[in-house]
Amino acid sequence: MIKNDVYVLDSSGIIGGFLSKKFANFTTSQVITEIKDLKSELFLQSALENGYITIKEPESQDFKQVKKVITESGDLLRLSDVDQLVIALALTIERDGMNPIVVTDDYSIQNVLKIIGISYRSVLTKGIENIVGWIKICKGCKKKYPSNNSLTECEICGSPIHRKRIKKLDQ
Ligand SMILES: [Zn+2]
Repeated sequence: MIKNDVYVLDSSGIIGGFLSKKFANFTTSQVITEIKDLKSELFLQSALENGYITIKEPESQDFKQVKKVITESGDLLRLSDVDQLVIALALTIERDGMNPIVVTDDYSIQNVLKIIGISYRSVLTKGIENIVGWIKICKGCKKKYPSNNSLTECEICGSPIHRKRIKKLDQ
């Protein structure tokens, strides 16, 4: 099954003026409240009016999942509630059957996304080499699995499955 790519913007994404015309852009209402400068407000207002950005809230189970992951990884203190909601929104969108790519320049957010296997790209440096995704791959037969697959052993050969960074060619 081919999943639709969608972008999830944090405040650095909006302040940086990131907007995909090819794929849907999502953000949370909490991110909107962080936008204070006039230029970004005007950019955001126009994007909302034209339907380029959709405001969506994460589901509580995903917010809880993010809390759990960052408590274990030690990122809890480095991430604001707004940051956590953005990560949770990406999980909600993934469960909705789409492929979220978080647009953020925040290294702590990027670190958590790596742990949970969600793709991200930075705002300011545009270019395909900055679009990073994850897959799972079998060490034995090299069968590829989606990043959110929970198997630890290959269903074909029984070898361990590990996560691998991939470059996404299509933006
Ligand atoms: Zn295998």
